[in-house]
Amino acid sequence: MAQVYERVALIGLGLIASSMFWSIKRGGLAGEVTGYARTEATRETARRIGLCDRVCDTAIEAVEGADLVVLCVPVGAMGAVAEEISPHLKPGATVTDVGSVKAAVIEAVLPHIPEGVHFVPAHPLAGTEHSGPTSGFAELFDNRWCLLVPVEGTDEGATAALRALWEGMGANVDEMDPAHHDLVLAVTSHTPHLIAYTMVGVADDLRRVTDSEVIKYSAAGFRDFTRIAASDPTMWRDVFLTNKDATLEILGRFTEELFALQRAIRTGDGDLLHDYFTRTRAIRRGIIDAGQDTDAPDFGRGGSRK
Ligand code: NAP
Repeated sequence: MAQVYERVALIGLGLIASSMFWSIKRGGLAGEVTGYARTEATRETARRIGLCDRVCDTAIEAVEGADLVVLCVPVGAMGAVAEEISPHLKPGATVTDVGSVKAAVIEAVLPHIPEGVHFVPAHPLAGTEHSGPTSGFAELFDNRWCLLVPVEGTDEGATAALRALWEGMGANVDEMDPAHHDLVLAVTSHTPHLIAYTMVGVADDLRRVTDSEVIKYSAAGFRDFTRIAASDPTMWRDVFLTNKDATLEILGRFTEELFALQRAIRTGDGDLLHDYFTRTRAIRRGIIDAGQDTDAPDFGRGGSRK
């Protein structure tokens, strides 16, 4: 595959950044990839496992001369990082991010993008419940979506190059506006995570009553929730704090539906329950048919994690 950028800088070296590095290397998509993480421990781990061609001790050093700078930190930290690197960005460079929320990131980062530097926000719809520099793997983005969320006046050439990078990493690329992105993700990702966190919290309360039976006899439904609820607490705290309106809107609808099902159970309305579950089963089938999951557990990826 052809090189897209001469030099790429990854700021933050967790799951997404490390997967990007291995994927960029797999595809030969960049000449050099520099990296920076906030803590010495993460930088040391990165050096030990060969994550990045050069691990820098400051974000400023990492972005100097970079043609593409990718912000891979929690959503709530994007603005401060952008402010720090801003005076050191190369003229003509592109800044992008991988944050799970878009309107809040654009609001926080855009004021720090200097004249002559492009900003193309993005969000790969791919992840696992693991985090940190050792959790990444080259196949994470294969056949998954990456949404580009260009802001008004975004340079078309900069957007096209970023699209080529994501396609080179195996992703399918689409464009979306920020508010729509945040609503769609509130439905497909953010609210489901909150529900999983809640269910595991409820079971944990119950565990104190049933004395570990919840763990011992853990069945598939609950186990799936625990996998989702094991996701990084900082990342998810920031997602809910910054995608507040859309998440509250979807949670409101969820609560109404839950009450309707609760009533059907109380009144013994089996038809309603059966119709409801038939409708939801078809949605699952649609996701598999669209190639966004398989019947295999963990998207068939269990063995490919580095
Ligand atoms: P991660 O594995 O937890 O890594 C986060 C990285 O950010 C670490 O290198 C950490 O540095 C650094 N960091 C944390 N707080 C920081 C701060 N206040 N200032 C500067 N750096 C900080 O996270 P991730 O899963 O790769 O997520 C990164 C971004 O991708 C987030 O914005 C998230 O919303 C988005 N995203 C995640 C997923 C997913 O499923 N995980 C999917 C799509 C998009 P240290 O290690 O040195 O502390």
